[in-house]
Amino acid sequence: MALIVQKYGGTSVGSIERIKNVAQRVARFKAQGHQVVVVVSAMTGETNRLIGLAKEIQSHPDPREMDVLVSTGEQVTIALLSMALMEMGLKAKSYTGAQVRILTDAAHTKARILSIDEENLRRDLDGGHVVVVAGFQGVDEKGNITTLGRGGSDTTGVALAAALKADECQIYTDVDGVYTTDPRIVPEARKLKTITFEEMLEMASLGSKVLQIRAVEFAGKYKVKLRVLSSFEEEGEGTLITFEEDTMEQPIISGIAFNRDEAKVTVLGVPDRPGIAYAILGPVADANIDVDMIIQNVGADGTTTDFTFTVHRNEFTRAMGILKDVQSTIGAREVKGDDKTAKVSLVGVGMRSHSGIASNMFKTLAAEGINIQMISTSEIKISVVIDEKYLELAVRVLHKAFNLEQAA
Ligand code: ASP
Ligand code: MG
Repeated sequence: MALIVQKYGGTSVGSIERIKNVAQRVARFKAQGHQVVVVVSAMTGETNRLIGLAKEIQSHPDPREMDVLVSTGEQVTIALLSMALMEMGLKAKSYTGAQVRILTDAAHTKARILSIDEENLRRDLDGGHVVVVAGFQGVDEKGNITTLGRGGSDTTGVALAAALKADECQIYTDVDGVYTTDPRIVPEARKLKTITFEEMLEMASLGSKVLQIRAVEFAGKYKVKLRVLSSFEEEGEGTLITFEEDTMEQPIISGIAFNRDEAKVTVLGVPDRPGIAYAILGPVADANIDVDMIIQNVGADGTTTDFTFTVHRNEFTRAMGILKDVQSTIGAREVKGDDKTAKVSLVGVGMRSHSGIASNMFKTLAAEGINIQMISTSEIKISVVIDEKYLELAVRVLHKAFNLEQAA
C-alpha cells in the first residue's frame, strides 16, 4: 500500500464528464489498496473568468478580495469531485486550503506556503477516505484567504506530498509528460521517460509551462518523487523527475525551452564608472520589475559602455519609462527598446561534461540566417535572445541539430 497524491489540472476537471473520469481513476488506485489524496484546480477558464469579473469593477483589484474571489474556483471542483467519488461508493471528503490549514504568508495573489497541518487528512485517510484538497489556496496567520500565484495547484500538490511523506506525487495534465520541446512547434518532439530535477527547474524557469516553477523547487527541497502524466490516457508512465543522473544514458541536451514574452531594453553611451549598474537596475528593481538576462560590455574607449537587459513583455512600457528618467540622471546617450524578441534555451546536465554545445548552437542558427542578439549561459543551459519572428524556426532547427527526436 502506498500513499499517493494526485493533482488534476483545470482541463482534467473541465466538465462534469471529466470530473467523473477523474473519480474513476482515483477509484482504480483505491481498489489497488492505495491511500489517495487528490488536489484539484478550478475548471478550465474559471480562474480567468473570475479575474475578468474583478477587472470589470477595479482596474487593479484589491489583492485580499481578489484571493477571496479566485479561490472559489477550486472550492467548486473539490465538492463536485467528492460527490462523484461518493456516487462510485467511495468515502470522500473535501477540504479548502483554510480547512486543511495550509498556512501561508500574507502576500496576497502570490503567497508562499509556510506549513501544513496534516493531522486531519491523515485521520481521514486512515479511515478509508479519499481526501480532496483545493489547490492554489491557503490561509494566512490572521485567517485571510490567500492564493499561491497562477498555476499554484501544482505547488499545493507537491507541498501536500512533502507534508504527508507521500510515496509519489502525480501531476495529471493534458499532456502525457515532459517533452524535448513543445510538440505544437516540433511534431517530432519526444516524450522524456525521465528528466533530472535540475533540468526540470531550468525548463520551468525558461518558459516550459508543464509545471509551476515553485512546485519544482518544492519537490527539490523535500525530495518529493514527482511524475507528470496525462489524465486522458488509461496507461502510460509519464515523465519521472529524478534526483540522479543516468551516467550511462544521460543525453547531452534534454530539452529546448522557449519564451515569447521577452522584451529587450538597451541604454547606450553609459558612463563607465562604479555604481552604474546599480543606478540603472536599482530603480527597475524598486518598481518590482523582474530582470532576466543582463549584458554589459567593456567600454571600448574607456569612458562609456552599453548596457542591455531583458524584462517580461508586460513590463516593457514601464521599464522604458523608468529608463528615460535614469538616462538623464546618469547622462547616458540613448535608451532603445525592442519588445519583439524571444528567448530560446538548450537545457541539459550533460553539458557539464561536453564541450562544443554552444558553438554547435550558434552554427545552427547562423545557417538559417538567424541573428543572435544576446547570449547567456549557466552550467546546464545556453540561452539566446533572437527576433521573435524566428522563434519557431530556431526551435525546429535546433531540435534537429541536437538529434532530440532520437532517444539517447
Ligand atoms: N486555478 C489556478 C490557475 O488557473 C491554479 C491552477 O490551476 O493551478 O492559475
Ligand atoms: Mg495548471
